[in-house]
Amino acid sequence: MHPILKPALRRGWHDLNTVQFGMTPAHAVVLNPVDTATGTFMTLLDGTRGVPLLRDEARRMGLPDGHVDALLDRLAHAGLLDDATGGGPPAEALRRRSQVMDRLRPDHAALSVATSEPAEAVRKLAARHSMRVQVRGAGRVGAVVASVLGAAGVGHVDVRDGGCVEPWDVAPGGQPVEAIGERRDVSARRVVRAVAPARPPRPDRRRTEPHPAWPEGGEPPLSLVVVAPRDGLAVHSPDPVHVEDLMAAGIPHLYAGVAEATGVVGPLVLPGGTGCAHCLLLARTDRDPTWPRLLAQWRSGRAARQIQACDLGLATAVAGLAAAHALAFLDGELPSSTGARWEASAPGLDWHARPVRPHRECACGAGERGNGQETSVEEGPHDTMAG
Ligand SMILES: [Zn+2]
Repeated sequence: MHPILKPALRRGWHDLNTVQFGMTPAHAVVLNPVDTATGTFMTLLDGTRGVPLLRDEARRMGLPDGHVDALLDRLAHAGLLDDATGGGPPAEALRRRSQVMDRLRPDHAALSVATSEPAEAVRKLAARHSMRVQVRGAGRVGAVVASVLGAAGVGHVDVRDGGCVEPWDVAPGGQPVEAIGERRDVSARRVVRAVAPARPPRPDRRRTEPHPAWPEGGEPPLSLVVVAPRDGLAVHSPDPVHVEDLMAAGIPHLYAGVAEATGVVGPLVLPGGTGCAHCLLLARTDRDPTWPRLLAQWRSGRAARQIQACDLGLATAVAGLAAAHALAFLDGELPSSTGARWEASAPGLDWHARPVRPHRECACGAGERGNGQETSVEEGPHDTMAG
């Protein structure tokens, strides 16, 4: 281990014995008391020295035996310590590829702030490289989500969509102007490849043993599907039929899109664990018996073939937020879209979350876990107005 005080957290001294790491309330830590000699010694924790060398240095500075180990324990316990050499073989491989690592340095720094164990950040970053995510939809939201995931180090980003790129699909970070007229999925995959810091890992054909985690065919299993429909109705009222395969296979999926100038991120559905698209439909029908009638009209109406109301700023925000939630999930966390929809409507753009509760009558089984499927008071009247 080569201990390093997380460089991403700015340091500031309140007084001679109190040091604060980090600025933001979410991640800042105050350490007290820190004596002057320890404060000086901490400048040596820059990742260039192993623990034995640090013990030698401490002895030279007149610090008592055991001081270094106690300090490292204390710093690690406070989540302030990283390890410049740890994380296992995938992390070592990533560090060796300095051009790839240079592309991802801010992402690594962000992970180091959001994680607590030494080398946890680089381990999670390296793990993204072997993950596979599918993005369904390659319009203003989906194509940007795909390119952000690819650029953030997700090794396999598979984009699915039909039809060809229309002029209004073009978005910064997403479908480029040159792709107008080209197949949406082909173009979006090319965009992902162009921004990815590394090529996707290829299955090693020389290997006699199959990869333990990969099924026949050499592709890793899907860790997540992002459902990013170009059609606003499919965002507002996601059709459970479209994700039947994901529900049956137990594949987590995250919804994202824009419907009539309202941006939606979520829910992240963990099949059988959190509220799904069918749970959402059942709850809406409970609250409003005319919901299915409205839905049938929306699905058959002419609006489906018209240009969608989807402003580029909101679409980009939705894509970025959805990608951030997806990355948090891939990194092993449960983001706040788990079982909830984040929504923001132009022009106020006030993001707020609405729960998508498991419904006891839904075949997904999430409602059987006693997660509470009653409509809450604050949710009921609002939803009657806005759907
Ligand atoms: Zn359900």
